[in-house]
Amino acid sequence: MQMSQEVLGQFRRKRFLIAAVVAALVLILTLSLRYMEEKGRIEQQSRTFAYNAIQRFDRMFSPLDVAANNTLGLVGLSCEQVRFPLVEKLAMLQTVRSVLLVDDDRIYCSSIYGSVSIPFSDTYPELAVNNQRMKLAVDQDLLKGSPVLLLWTPRSLDNRSGIMQVVNIELMTNYLLEPTLPWVERAIFKVAGKSLEYGNPMIEEAVPSEDEVSVEQASLRYPFTITLFGPSPARLALVTVPSQLPLALLLSMLMGYIVWLATANRMSLSWQISYGITAREFMVYAQPLINARTGACDGIELLLRWHNPRQGWIPPDVFIPLAERQNLIAPLTRFVIGEAVRHLPSLPARNSFHIAINVAASHFHDKAIIDDLQSLWWPANPKPQLIVELTERDSLPVVDQRVVSHLHEIGVQLAIDDFGTGHSSLSYLKTLSPDILKIDKVFTAAIGTDAINATVTDMVISLAQRLNISLVAEGVETAEQAEYLRERGVDVLQGYFYARPMPLADIPDWLVDHEAHLRTPAHV
Ligand code: C2E
Ligand code: CA
Ligand code: CA
Repeated sequence: MQMSQEVLGQFRRKRFLIAAVVAALVLILTLSLRYMEEKGRIEQQSRTFAYNAIQRFDRMFSPLDVAANNTLGLVGLSCEQVRFPLVEKLAMLQTVRSVLLVDDDRIYCSSIYGSVSIPFSDTYPELAVNNQRMKLAVDQDLLKGSPVLLLWTPRSLDNRSGIMQVVNIELMTNYLLEPTLPWVERAIFKVAGKSLEYGNPMIEEAVPSEDEVSVEQASLRYPFTITLFGPSPARLALVTVPSQLPLALLLSMLMGYIVWLATANRMSLSWQISYGITAREFMVYAQPLINARTGACDGIELLLRWHNPRQGWIPPDVFIPLAERQNLIAPLTRFVIGEAVRHLPSLPARNSFHIAINVAASHFHDKAIIDDLQSLWWPANPKPQLIVELTERDSLPVVDQRVVSHLHEIGVQLAIDDFGTGHSSLSYLKTLSPDILKIDKVFTAAIGTDAINATVTDMVISLAQRLNISLVAEGVETAEQAEYLRERGVDVLQGYFYARPMPLADIPDWLVDHEAHLRTPAHV
């Protein structure tokens, strides 16, 4: 019993461990997934911010571009002639502060001041020489000191004539680059190494910042980039992890519970038993039955052994009661019968040799045992005498009388196992009319040590003799016990004193040895 508790406890511990590991994995997985998702979302937010800002800037620059190209025809005409059409166009483009016309490398006309004369390439080498189309600069005219963007539209490839628009970039930046906290803290508009940041009306050298992560995207149409700074997405995402904990815990506990329930079957011993039957993890052992008078081997009792590769050897006292409860005992018995049949050719082929199998009372229901014997045992045309040992542990067996008579009719002998213990009672003797009584090993062990049990043994012996029922004593471990039982007329002895249960395949050799041993003079 201790053993069975241990084995069952092992199964439960294993099940619990698996459920706990699954729960922990689900917890880790859920949190990491949520973290990755959040990180991805934050990164996406920053990229979308930059993308949208670029789109909007592009959309603001595009009409300026068109307007400048449409006006290129005016370049070269005298300032008086072109100034008013210029101002008119300008009025429509609210983002442009002023327009300057350049011809022959001189700025000669300003929409604000009219005729001027400023050397172009000397003043704006970036545009005239470096071929840049944009330049961040400080307004010298209208709003002195405020940042502007110079948008240069050359008429000729040599950059000596064209139109320069002075764009109110500060207004645009304030309007288009407002940061969205928490993922975008700073947004910067950059042109050719100069930068203009939202909320700071100063044009500065663009220097990379170290501690904050930046997203940088360039416009495909104009030579500017948008750079964003903000806390690293990983850090931001990490902050959100604790808020995910309750849900993740709930999920992991739920999964753990589901696994606990789901493994109830798979991990249970009964599942392992049915798996073990198909995986051929069971083996049939046999223990010799010794004729008390002659010392010859009169037969064998077949006993199941289970080597479970995951748990090792599991004793029958653990798995048999469980198999009985889970309705798995019949397949196990069929396996034993099958093995007996398989080994028949190597076993003595005479009726005086007995093969005893253990059959649970439940297997008697609906004649199931008869059907199994008809389909498995009799077709093999066996010579040995079959004995069915009836064992019942949990309750009084309600054995169908007709099944018992039927067994007798087909030539099977019935033994009552463990007689004198548990629920086996005297009333069996009447209802089952057994051929054999097996005295349980506790009574054999009592011989010479326990007066009360020894008295029961004596009573059982005389009862059986009066009813003309054969007697088998189990658990014979000493010569003294064997002598005692033989003196009182017990017919058959079984126990470690003669032989321990051994693989059924070893029996033929054992029989040869035993007979040789019997014939030695010492035994006569
Ligand atoms: P059981 O039918 O009373 O079988 C006798 C048990 O006593 C066997 O234990 C055997 O190994 C053990 N035994 C034999 N000689 C000695 C001895 O000298 N000293 C001691 N201490 N023990 C001895 P085992 O094989 O562990 O089987 C335990 C029980 O499991 C069996 O008791 C039987 O009730 C059940 N069992 C085994 N195989 C089957 C089977 O195929 N079908 C069914 N229904 N039950 C089985
Ligand atoms: Ca038995
Ligand atoms: Ca027994």
